[in-house]
Amino acid sequence: MSRRSITLLLLTAGLALALLQTTYSQAPAFDLVIRNGRIVDGTGSPWYLADVGVKGDTIAAVRPRLDAGSARVIDARGQVVSPGFIDVHAHVEAGDEGQDMVGSPAAENNVRQGVTTVIGAPDGGGSVQVGAYLAKVTAAKPAINVGSFIGHGAVRGAVVGQANRPATPDELDKMRELVRTGMREGAFGLSTGLFYVPGNYAPLEEVIELAKVAGQFGGIHQSHMREEGAHVLDSVRETIAIGEKGGLPTQVTHHKIIGKANWGKSVETLRLIDEARARGVDATIDQYPYTASSTSIQGGLLPQWAQAGGREAMLKGLQDETTRGKVLAAIANSIENDRGGGDPANVVLAACAWDPSLAGKSLAQVLRDRGRPVTIQRAAELVVEIVEKGGCSAIYHAISEDDLIRIMKHPSTMIASDAAPGVPAFGKNVPHPRAYGTFARVLGVYVREKQVLTLEDAVRKMAGFPAARLGLLDRGVLRPGMKADVVVFDPATVKDTATFEKPHQYAVGVSAVVVNGQVALENSKMTGVRGGVAIKRNAQ
Ligand SMILES: [Zn+2]
Repeated sequence: MSRRSITLLLLTAGLALALLQTTYSQAPAFDLVIRNGRIVDGTGSPWYLADVGVKGDTIAAVRPRLDAGSARVIDARGQVVSPGFIDVHAHVEAGDEGQDMVGSPAAENNVRQGVTTVIGAPDGGGSVQVGAYLAKVTAAKPAINVGSFIGHGAVRGAVVGQANRPATPDELDKMRELVRTGMREGAFGLSTGLFYVPGNYAPLEEVIELAKVAGQFGGIHQSHMREEGAHVLDSVRETIAIGEKGGLPTQVTHHKIIGKANWGKSVETLRLIDEARARGVDATIDQYPYTASSTSIQGGLLPQWAQAGGREAMLKGLQDETTRGKVLAAIANSIENDRGGGDPANVVLAACAWDPSLAGKSLAQVLRDRGRPVTIQRAAELVVEIVEKGGCSAIYHAISEDDLIRIMKHPSTMIASDAAPGVPAFGKNVPHPRAYGTFARVLGVYVREKQVLTLEDAVRKMAGFPAARLGLLDRGVLRPGMKADVVVFDPATVKDTATFEKPHQYAVGVSAVVVNGQVALENSKMTGVRGGVAIKRNAQ
């Protein structure tokens, strides 16, 4: 052996020794170990017993009897350990009190339900500047992960304004460019709110053209449909057509059947979804577990044509006696047969900036307070007065439990909150309880009490399924290599406590929440640690 090869041999041996030493002197294998829990992994598979080892922001191991070493340990004995829940319809844009995820990054309402990721700008809303929005999210260091859609209504508003007409070819090009930019900046797809102004003014063809752009980037389409009452079947057909002709997955968001006369139609809407899927259209559904909806009183009850041209034009229109008469008739019809649930008592004001004392009162109650007869006609007049004063958000009790359960059981339905704009200003106003309760309510009421879903299927609908839908391939399932978004909850006690009367109450039964390996909740107490990040489509 030459001197040279001996030197080489020694060098190689030295290098091997050094490598060996590095391996043994490395930091412990895990930073955090969640012990003894029942793993419900998010795929729908039955639970199994294992420990979860977390290193940095990643799940490093899922197997029994992990050696925790000096790692932080959370004991989950008797509890379920699942992937963090993903909310694909969350209004994290600014709300009634101006609050949003950027200004209120603690997101306690989400964390206490086990929600670790929210996707904003649903219903066609949000900002057209997705990149700038996500940069603000990053700077705000939220407790949970935040992503965004690019909203069709926002795009149309920026290019066509509030005009009630189809876009010109030039305007359509400009809208395409905004959608393209939004997708490039990380949007998960195109959201539409064809029920709302100005999205309502768009014909189907326009939406298909913009959906094609989102589809080219691998995005999805999510729709607050044009109509959820008497014409709900047409709306589901339209939503399917956007996916089929736009060449992208399409989702009926917060699927429900509004108005007593229409109850039961979910049998047919679900059949339409099944038929679409059978012929290869990737159509899915999301839903919140409540029999009441919530939106602004103007958006919910005023006919869209009366809102054309913006607020000034609308108010001017209402001064005209004939127009006002037509508007009143349309609102009365809505209260009778649609969102009003057939009774002014079924429309409850949630927040009115111009008179906070109205929050929590139904239209019937306000009429009584003012010494007026409680009739649908008088309620319609009150709605116009409210709109003229500046509007309110409201809650509409007009959904049947049978439809809700039928939709929830469908294998293509996932859970999403549709939580009111902003994060709830704790204790202020009387908003829909879904911002506090959605995910815990599914586990408490629809898994444990009513046994509508198995625990494993519910977790699939709240984690693995929405993650797959978004193309979020490193979250939603508990498996080594995935981002460490983990929830620990007691299946015997987890439940929502927020009610329509008292919505400002956090869910209970969730004991620990981990976001990107950071512990946000431990022993059912908020730690104040904010480990969330802005997430982008296909950026993982
Ligand atoms: Zn909506």
